[in-house]
Amino acid sequence: MKTTCPKCKSRIRIRNKREIDCTKCGFQFSHRKFYGESTKYLVDTNIFIGALNGFEHHHDACTSVLTLYAGELITTNHVIAEILQYCPHTVKVYIVDAFLPEVEELCYITKDDEDYALSPADKSLIQCAIDNPDIAGIITYDTDIKSVVPSRLIRSEKPFFIGTADDFLKKRGRK
Ligand SMILES: [Zn+2]
Repeated sequence: MKTTCPKCKSRIRIRNKREIDCTKCGFQFSHRKFYGESTKYLVDTNIFIGALNGFEHHHDACTSVLTLYAGELITTNHVIAEILQYCPHTVKVYIVDAFLPEVEELCYITKDDEDYALSPADKSLIQCAIDNPDIAGIITYDTDIKSVVPSRLIRSEKPFFIGTADDFLKKRGRK
């Protein structure tokens, strides 16, 4: 798709990426304007585990998300590798095979001031969100993810959602 930059009037080619910048002057185009709203959500390992185990505190919320919103959900090959048990829920799986250096180096700082690397599954969700502008958020109980992902990494016109299954259901008016 080609368009004319409103700032420098160059004809530039538009590709479906999170960041659509004019290659000549750096003008930032609205992704939404060309490709519509982001409508998919990434699901972390703990949501599947919560739904699979009846004794888990968040069992009902996780099950509701995976059954009511299956068509909007995506996960990664790294999350599937972490589940390690039979899972009857169906979601689309995106393959993430390489991490950007900025994603590779993300780490938590513990209260003892030690660096603690993110798991490959956590990194894969962040990388998948960067690579796929149709992704509007990450559903996880690992709220630390929120604290380590700078907003410049996942550019999003609407606030990028990072929240629990309960938060997601609340957002959708189910709670
Ligand atoms: Zn321009």
